[in-house]
Amino acid sequence: MTMDSKNPETIALHAGWRRDESTTSVAVPIYQTTSYQFNSTEHAASLFGLAELGNIYTRIMNPTNDVLEQRIAALEGGVAGLAVSSGQAASAFAVQNITRAGDNFVASTDLYGGTWNLFANTMKDMGIECRFVDPSDPKAFANATDDRTRCYYAETLPNPKLQVFPIKEVAEIGRNLGVPLIMDNTAAPILCRPFEHGAAIVMHSTTKFIGGHGTSIGGIIVDGGNFDWEAHKERFPMLNEPDPSYHGAVWTEAVKPMGPIAYIIKARVTLLRDLGSAMSPFNGFQFIQGLETLPLRIRAHSENAATVAEYLSGHDKVGKVIHPSVMDGEARRRADAVLSGGYGGLCGFEFAAGGKEAGQRFIDSLNMFYHVANIGDSRSLAIHPATTTHSQLSPKEQEQTGVTDSYVRLSIGIEHIDDIIGDLDQALATV
Ligand code: PLP
Repeated sequence: MTMDSKNPETIALHAGWRRDESTTSVAVPIYQTTSYQFNSTEHAASLFGLAELGNIYTRIMNPTNDVLEQRIAALEGGVAGLAVSSGQAASAFAVQNITRAGDNFVASTDLYGGTWNLFANTMKDMGIECRFVDPSDPKAFANATDDRTRCYYAETLPNPKLQVFPIKEVAEIGRNLGVPLIMDNTAAPILCRPFEHGAAIVMHSTTKFIGGHGTSIGGIIVDGGNFDWEAHKERFPMLNEPDPSYHGAVWTEAVKPMGPIAYIIKARVTLLRDLGSAMSPFNGFQFIQGLETLPLRIRAHSENAATVAEYLSGHDKVGKVIHPSVMDGEARRRADAVLSGGYGGLCGFEFAAGGKEAGQRFIDSLNMFYHVANIGDSRSLAIHPATTTHSQLSPKEQEQTGVTDSYVRLSIGIEHIDDIIGDLDQALATV
């Protein structure tokens, strides 16, 4: 079905699928298959040679996941998507797709702890240098760029600082230097469309708000189709020079007849083929279910979180509240420039006194909130990052990512607001 609507509520329900042609099934089936019968040896050769696109093997593509890919690409305003096994795999692939040993990339310091570890340690072991810069000054990205810089990387609404990234400013710096901006939009689906602000690639941990029900781990990369890889041949040899792993294909040329999708096709047929981080079609199905109500849910998350931020701001045991709705100055300006329809479901706070013990006692006293390492579930969730998600970082790295001793991260769910505040209130009373 062609998707003419520009409205996320409609796209989330209709993009990429009308019905199953053989059974007329309206729900997207779970194509739980490893393989696909070729019509002939000629057909098989043509698929393997990328002369035509079609199903070969579920490690590389799957019809259930294909609907998810089309739907999220449509929601983001991109040209094509690639579903993978986790958000971590999506972050790694998004960078690795254009970066080799000896190259570097520049990332914001405001990152999820797992992404930080991947970039600072695992990527380093692979010979890829990540240069971390403070996003409060967009020019820091330009200053860290040299001719081996392959991309910029940042989160739209970085958890835990929740200071919205200056997408437009950094994307523009990158475009002038021939460097694409990759945005992790996990915390702000629907609320932000990074391509509209100049980003070239978007990724999500679909594990979070997109899935919404806390059942499945997954990730996706979306190609904006808006970056001219051929105009910067020297910066992107992996897209512009013959690829020995695919009998010498030059991706920007080989893929041209299919549209501006060289980046995402290469990720699929080289990285996914070789590293195998495929999304299971069952998880793809779960994410499709989640997507259907995402536009409604993300509004409810945002409204509840803004009410929680207001409540916490007036509580005498709370020192600082972190949510864009209670920020002012430049942080608020950036939030308003990038987000529309709400400030997201994540909210953090620090205790006025009591440090680490206060944070831990509060978490242990919650009744309804789940104490988990996840975010973006329909249920309300809480965690104490300094002793959990960010505990593998050094004290300096914790500080750079915005995690202090008493910081508590809340992912506000879509329960009734009175029950959310009630649970927070009784837990605060125990500290
Ligand atoms: N990006 C962000 C912003 C995240 O919060 C997370 C996980 O918490 C990830 C990426 C990694 O996603 P996953 O847990 O699906 O691997």
